[in-house]
Amino acid sequence: MLRVPSLDNLLSGNGLEASTALTLLASAMPVAETVSPSATDLPPLLRDIQASANQCRQQQVGEIVTYVINRNINFTNICEQHCAFCAFRREAIAPDAYWLTTEAILRKTAEAVAQGATELCMQGGLNPAAKVRGSSLRYYQQLVREIKTAFPQVHLHAFSPQEIQFIAREDGHSYAEVIATLHETGVDSMPGTAAEVLVDAVRAKICPEKLDTATWIEIVGTAHRLGVWTTSTMLCGHIETPQDQIAHLQHLKELQRTALDKGYPGRISEFILLPYVGEHAPRAMRQWVGHPQPRLWPTLVLTAVARLFLGQWIPNHQPSWVKLGLAGATMALHWGCNDLGGTLMEEHITSVAGARGGTALGVADLEAAIRSVGRTPCQRTTLYHHLGEVHYDNAV
Ligand code: SF4
Repeated sequence: MLRVPSLDNLLSGNGLEASTALTLLASAMPVAETVSPSATDLPPLLRDIQASANQCRQQQVGEIVTYVINRNINFTNICEQHCAFCAFRREAIAPDAYWLTTEAILRKTAEAVAQGATELCMQGGLNPAAKVRGSSLRYYQQLVREIKTAFPQVHLHAFSPQEIQFIAREDGHSYAEVIATLHETGVDSMPGTAAEVLVDAVRAKICPEKLDTATWIEIVGTAHRLGVWTTSTMLCGHIETPQDQIAHLQHLKELQRTALDKGYPGRISEFILLPYVGEHAPRAMRQWVGHPQPRLWPTLVLTAVARLFLGQWIPNHQPSWVKLGLAGATMALHWGCNDLGGTLMEEHITSVAGARGGTALGVADLEAAIRSVGRTPCQRTTLYHHLGEVHYDNAV
C-alpha cells in the first residue's frame, strides 16, 4: 500500500520531491473522486495524507490560524479577454457592464476602514478604455494615488500579473517599469492571481489570451526583485492533471527559492488553492469539466499535498471560503491550512460563476470557525504579521 513518506524528510524544509508528490496525487485523486462528500470514514490513503499534512502544518506554523480584515474591490468587469472559465467579464456595451468611479472606490474604502480593514484588495478586467491622457499606467497610478492619499494606512494589495502585462503592452513599458511605478505610487503587494495552472498546454485551452507561464513567472520574479511581495494561487479541479498540478507547484517553489537565494526584498507570502466553480461558466468549459461546484475530497487532497510539497518554502496556506463555503474551508484547516483569508466584504468574480460560499464574512464568523476546530484565531496584516494579542483560549 502507498504510504506518505516519513515526516523527517518532509520537515527538513524542502518538502516532498516532485516525483513523490506526483505519485501521491496520482494515487489519491482517483480514490478521492469516489468518496461521498458526506463520508466520515475516509480510505486509509486519504487519512494518511490528511494526518501528514496536518502534522506538517503543526510543526511549521503551529496552532494559530490567521485572517485579515480586508475589502475586495473588482473595479470593472469590462475585459478584452475571453477566458473559458470566466463568468465575470463583460463587453463594454453589455447592459450589466460596470466600471466604478474613483469616488465609488473611495466610498467603499471608507466603509471598509470604518469596519477595521487593514487591506484593500483590488483587481479588475482588462479595459483598454481605462486610460488617462492616452496612458493605461497613468490611469492605474491615478487610482492608486487617490486611494493612498485618502487612506495612507491601508495596505493596497492590487493588480494581478495579467494586469501588469496588460499595462506594459498598452503603454510599451517593461514589466519592471510598470511594477516599480505602481509600487512607488502606493501599491504595497500584488495578488498572485491569473496563474490558473502554470502549464501552457492547459492555458492554451482555458485562457488562451492570457500571459503564458514564462511571463507570469517573469512578472512575479520581477515584483520580488523590486521589493513587492506577492501571493500565489492555483485554479484547480477542472481539466488539469496531477502532473500539471505538481508542475505548477514546482514553479512556485522555484520562484520562492530564487527570491530567498538572491536575497530579494519581496517574496511569496502564501499559497491559496482556488477550486474551480463553473455553475455559470461559458458552456464549453462546463462541458469539459462536468461538475459545477468544487469536489470536496479532491480539493482537500490537493490542499494537503501542496503543504507537503511546498514545505518550509511557502509556510502559509489558505483555502477559499468563497469557493468551498465556510464549512469546507474550515475542514481545510485539518488538511494543511493555517489561514482563513479575508472578510472580503464583497466578491464578484466567483459569485457570478455560481459560488455558494457567500461574498462577505464577519470577524466573528471567521473566529468561530477557527475555534470550532480547536485552534487559535489571530488577525494578521497582509504580510502575516500578527495584530493584537493572541488569546490561547480555544473554548468553542
Ligand atoms: S478571467 Fe480575468 S482576464 Fe480572463 S476574461 Fe475574466 S476578467 Fe478577463
